[in-house]
Order: sequence, then C-alpha cells, then structure tokens
Amino acid sequence: MTKKIAVLPGDGIGPEIVAEAVKVLECLRAEGLDIEMSEAPVGGAGYEASGKPLPDDTLALAKESDAILLGAVGGYQWESLDISVRPEKGLLGLRAELELFSNLRPAILYKQLADASTLKPEVVSGLDIMIVRELTGGIYFGQPRGIRTLDNGEKQGFNTLVYSESEIERIGHSAFKIAMKRGKKLCSVDKANVLECTELWREVMERVAKDYPEVELLHMYVDNAAMQLVRAPKQFDVMVTTNMFGDILSDCAAMLTGSIGMLPSASLDANGKGMYEPIHGSAPDIAGKNVANPLATILSVAMMLRYSLNESAMADRIEKAVEVVLDKGLRTADIDSDGMQKIGTSEMGDAVVAALAD
Ligand code: NAD
Repeated sequence: MTKKIAVLPGDGIGPEIVAEAVKVLECLRAEGLDIEMSEAPVGGAGYEASGKPLPDDTLALAKESDAILLGAVGGYQWESLDISVRPEKGLLGLRAELELFSNLRPAILYKQLADASTLKPEVVSGLDIMIVRELTGGIYFGQPRGIRTLDNGEKQGFNTLVYSESEIERIGHSAFKIAMKRGKKLCSVDKANVLECTELWREVMERVAKDYPEVELLHMYVDNAAMQLVRAPKQFDVMVTTNMFGDILSDCAAMLTGSIGMLPSASLDANGKGMYEPIHGSAPDIAGKNVANPLATILSVAMMLRYSLNESAMADRIEKAVEVVLDKGLRTADIDSDGMQKIGTSEMGDAVVAALAD
C-alpha cells in the first residue's frame, strides 16, 4: 500500500535541506519505493499562511500520513510574537497531537570527520550511540507547577516529576525494540538513589526486560552517565531515559560528534508512525545561501525508512551513500577541512543521489 509522507520544510534553511532529502526520496521512488509526498507549511511559514504555527490543514495532513519529514522552524522575524503563536509551538503541537513519546537521537561520528570532535579521536572514532528520550511526560509536563508566594512572602518555584507505569512501559518497549535492531545492549539512566519516581522507572524497566531476554539491560545514575559519555562513550549502544535527563544527555552525546549538520532524529508514537528531522535549528544566519549541510535531513530520511516504512535495506543504502560522499572528500562548509572539496547544499544532495544510484 502507498505510504503517505507529509513534507514540512518550515523556516530558514528548512526548505533548502528538505529539498535535498526529497531528492533522495524521489530517487528511491523511481526505483519502486511506494510513497506519496504532500507539502505543507509549519512554524513561521505556518503563521504567515494562516496565523497559526501549526495550521489546521498541516495538522490534518500530519495525522493522515505514515511519516513526517520536517526541516526546522524559527527565525528572527517571529521572535517578538506572542509565545502562543511562535514557530516552536508548531513543533510542540505536532509532538503532542500525534503522541510522539519516543525521541530517538543517534550520535554517530563518521570516521571521515573524527577531527570535528573536541574529544581525542581514539575516544570518539567509530562512535555510534542511540539515545531514546521520553518526550511527552516527566517534569516538563508534571502538575502541579508554577511559582507561588509562601507565608513569609518569599517566592518559591516548583515542578513535579511524575511518571506512570504505563508511560515507563511504553518508552521501555520502544527502547528494547531498538536495542534488538542494534547491538542488544540497553543502558537505562535514572536517579533511583534520590528520586522515587525513577526508582519506579528502574523497577518497570526490569519488568519490561523480561520480554527481551536477548537484550542486556544495565542501569546507570544520570551523573555517572554524563561522566561516562565524555570519558568512554563507545561503551554505550542504546540509552533510554526520562524527558529531562534525555534532553541534556542527548545534546551532550550530539556534541561528541562535533558536527550539528550531520545528526538526524526521530520522534515515534506507539505504532511506529514518526516525525523525522535534523537535530539542528533553522540557522537563519546561513539561510538562502546554499551553504547548509543537508546530510542530517537526508539521514533523517534513512531513519524514516527504517522505523516507519519498514525499509531497512534502503535505510542502509542511504547511510552508505553518505559515507561514500564523505570518502570522496566532499564537504559542506560546516564540516570542511584542509584538502577536502567544499560544495554547496544542492551539490551535496546531488552527490548522495549519485552515490545511491552507483
Ligand atoms: P541552529 O541549530 O539553527 O544554529 C546553530 C549554529 O549551527 C548556527 O551557526 C548555524 O548556522 C549552524 N548550523 C545549524 N544547522 C546547520 C546545517 N545544517 N549546516 C550548517 N550549519 C548549520 O540553532 P540556533 O541558532 O540556536 O537557532 C536558530 C533558530 O532555530 C531559532 O529560531 C531557534 O528557535 C530554532 N530552532 C529550531 C529547532 C527545530 O526546528 N527543531 C531546533 C533548535 C532551534
């Protein structure tokens, strides 16, 4: 059956990088991949089109699609808008409306780019970690929350860390399934020595583990996990953690690779439907100049094929094509170095398509 893909370019460099990812999808469609793509505005573009960062038609399209390809949202011109209609609300709205609770952020360091990391090449070369972050619960959403005034007149800020068993179970299953497709090693990160909520997290992870006897489950406190990520990151295969811990650890892991323009992400619901996007923003400083790196978006397409469209072989081919292009010494400005050939956004997309076809 034809799979529907919603293409939401967004703002800034979004349209440029998404155009290159669409080239890759068109190439695979020409080979027989049964997909249908429809484009719609989101973020600042959504606001300009309809007064809402997540226009009703865009949400309807996202809901009826099997997967969503998103560029990035945001830009200087919308920064003074009321917070309720800022571009970022479009993204948050999609995550909430589609119940995309499982956020997958790989941190991969291509051997060709080992020098881009601030860590020693031997520590990070060949790095390949997948961080699974719970995205719709935890302290970012827990009630009660706010700032109150105490009897003595002093103000007090408060938030609530809350996870139900079912929320932990579903992110647990998501992470174990991913571990099954990779190295079968899962590290669950918590603070069970201090926070009762994550004591329950640990208990539920142990329970879920019984369904995946082939996966080795390990628990680690978040402070140690942060330390281990910069000390010896290659010990990790898949990590699963709460919304806030995942927010912090995934940025830390991403920066181990040193190249923001190379990292894709996926946010999945319980049925494998997902939204796929680069981890970087809309980079308004370089928008419209044909210098942005489209590889993170192209690699997001690979994740889409693997996790939502069940086309792992095609996903492997895209990832291999990216390696071939890097082996040829082709680089966009953000990953350029001595002796390499600097090319633009559209040339990079063309090079990946050519490598795919080879
Ligand atoms: P950013 O990720 O857009 O840019 C940070 C730096 O990295 C910039 O110097 C930029 O030029 C560079 N960069 C980013 N992507 C690149 C690419 N593909 N190729 C080459 N260089 C790249 O972060 P920022 O500057 O903090 O935010 C800019 C806008 O993006 C803001 O409006 C912010 O709210 C928004 N934003 C959106 C998302 C999203 O849509 N998921 C995420 C983060 C930030």
